[in-house]
Amino acid sequence: MRIVVYPGSFDPVTNGHLDVIQRASRLFDRVVVAVAENDSKQPLFTLHERRDLVAQTIGHLPNVQADSFSGLLIDYAASLGAQAIIRGLRAVSDFEFEFQLALINRKMNETVETIFMMPKDTYTFLSSRIVKEVCRLGGDVSAFVPPHVAIALQRRFHPTPPPA
Ligand code: ADP
Repeated sequence: MRIVVYPGSFDPVTNGHLDVIQRASRLFDRVVVAVAENDSKQPLFTLHERRDLVAQTIGHLPNVQADSFSGLLIDYAASLGAQAIIRGLRAVSDFEFEFQLALINRKMNETVETIFMMPKDTYTFLSSRIVKEVCRLGGDVSAFVPPHVAIALQRRFHPTPPPA
């Protein structure tokens, strides 16, 4: 059984993430999309909300599941019996940090490989941060995130006032 972990903040999950998940689901028997607690990033959505949005996004993929974790990624991956960790690479700007992360993880546990995947070219400009900024400023994010994520973003940034 080939198991892979795709970790991230997923604050919120985007079509770029989904593209990577779909590619991974064709290569591995089981893909665990693992939402990191990661409080240092002061996320817009709670851990529970982020995991829920991921779970709704992957509902059509039978070999993919959503989970959450805190603490060291490499320990979490090993606890699942995963052979690999997937990270997405969009541009050269992602490379330096991802390279560092992959090597430190290998130092801690040599049995878990890090695999990099590139999204479809149309998603290379997408990040959770940019999507939040567009929505916050009143832009339409429906081309960048799954429909239920667009609704969640709209509600978070532009809640409709209760009827008078
Ligand atoms: P993190 O806080 O771990 O960077 P993110 O949710 O921002 O969490 O991203 C999780 C992973 O998905 C990272 O490897 C990131 O490079 C990758 N990723 C983010 N957006 C995209 C995208 N549009 N296309 C491909 N990979 C992406």
